[in-house]
Amino acid sequence: MPHPSIVWFRDDLRLADNPALRAAIERDEPVIGLYVLDEESEGIRPLGGAARWWLHGSLRSLGERLREKGGQLVLRRGPSARVVTEVVKDAGASAVFWNRRYGGAEREIDAQLKTALREDGIEVASFAASLLFEPWTVQTGSGTPYSVFTPFWRACRALPAPRAPLPEPREVDGGSAKVASDDLDDWQLLPTEPDWAAGLREAWEPGEPAARARLREFLREDLDDYARTRNEPAAGVTSQLSPRLRWGELSPHTVWHDTIEADGAAGRFLSEIGWREFAAHTLFYHPDLATKNLHREFDAFPWPRLKPSHLEAWQQGRTGIPLVDAGMRELWRTGVMHNRVRMVTASFLIKNLLIDWRLGEQWFWDTLVDADGASNPFNWQWVAGSGADAAPYFRIFNPELQAKKFDPRGEYIARWAPEYRADTAEEPPEPIVDLGESRKAALDGYEAVKRASRS
Ligand SMILES: Cc1cc2nc3c(=O)[nH]c(=O)nc-3n(C[C@H](O)[C@H](O)[C@H](O)COP(=O)(O)OP(=O)(O)OC[C@H]3O[C@@H](n4cnc5c(N)ncnc54)[C@H](O)[C@@H]3O)c2cc1C
Repeated sequence: MPHPSIVWFRDDLRLADNPALRAAIERDEPVIGLYVLDEESEGIRPLGGAARWWLHGSLRSLGERLREKGGQLVLRRGPSARVVTEVVKDAGASAVFWNRRYGGAEREIDAQLKTALREDGIEVASFAASLLFEPWTVQTGSGTPYSVFTPFWRACRALPAPRAPLPEPREVDGGSAKVASDDLDDWQLLPTEPDWAAGLREAWEPGEPAARARLREFLREDLDDYARTRNEPAAGVTSQLSPRLRWGELSPHTVWHDTIEADGAAGRFLSEIGWREFAAHTLFYHPDLATKNLHREFDAFPWPRLKPSHLEAWQQGRTGIPLVDAGMRELWRTGVMHNRVRMVTASFLIKNLLIDWRLGEQWFWDTLVDADGASNPFNWQWVAGSGADAAPYFRIFNPELQAKKFDPRGEYIARWAPEYRADTAEEPPEPIVDLGESRKAALDGYEAVKRASRS
């Protein structure tokens, strides 16, 4: 009588370099892949709309690929701990493997489940797969977590190099046990009324094969220009790997090793992967990252009463500020936005519209296909000034100067917000705020933060 092993897939929707899958295969028992859509467990943040769209495509691809290799992917919905325990029983499984995740609520669920399953005599093991460096292995001399990127990354680079990626299994024995699975379509992850995902379908093909193809293309065609033009949104040289890494269609180990093989001097690109590590490190030590100012003196910032019309204008890309509007429309259409423009649009929301960073973070959470529980709040706090190694609060991006510097020919703006082109007859909208006055109001607000930090 076989006793299958369950591989619980989470943020690692891939077959290659998947240590949990490999451990299951090495046990020489049938392997059952499981994905749990958990919108109920305490503290788990429900996925945003664009993320749900991506998840659908990525799960479909993973299921097909597992089936091609002889395996199966069981889909279930509900609180993870309960569902995993049920599937273990249904399948008569004797082992459960997963790759680690780093959010507070997620870690709590995993730790409790590990204990409970072991008490029932089930073998359980978790693996390092989604980060190059486990957060607890990177510590300052005095044993505390890092709060500044440069020494953090230096410390990472001084550790043993990330392990080589594991090869994709040739086959997966799914066994003969029939375990009930939901139908992916019944989860209704795709938007229907209205179907706003046309731009996402045009821009992306979720799934591991497309992820690997993009990595190869990036290394071949764009890496050389990356360091020089990565800040220019019209240049199109960045890797576009963020949703791939977010959903684990590619492991950071694969990205790391393939990059070094392509160009041993690709330090600039690798240090961006380092920022992803730093965001996860920060979340690990500050599980409230999405809701609480990391530097608590920022709680004293006197946010004025919210003007919903301003928030809406920002969300819809109708602020009258060309680079901001272009960025917000790129986001709505494609589910991503160039990093430089993310910084500018976030700074404009916080420091010109004087809207709490958490409302901007939530909008990005809903609209980004790479919406990440660590990187999104980490970067919002970085822009707000309240976060780890943050931009100083008095650094307020001027979106017009930023456009001159990083989109000098106006190509990016023309692509996403054509009404601002010089050669159009259209009347461009008026800015909804005066950049100079609103900047001054923000600086006044930050005086309260300064006072709070002194008291
Ligand atoms: C306000 C704001 C919110 C953001 N929210 C997210 C988010 O939810 N998810 C997300 O993956 N990134 C987020 N970022 C970081 C960054 O903008 C994106 O990772 C990047 O634009 C993705 O494009 P790329 O893959 O072409 O990046 P590349 O320049 O090719 O970089 C390679 C990889 O490095 C990582 N990376 C690069 N910059 C950062 C960074 N600043 N922080 C963390 N990781 C980084 C990403 O995984 C990226 O795919 C945010 C940045 C800002 C300013």
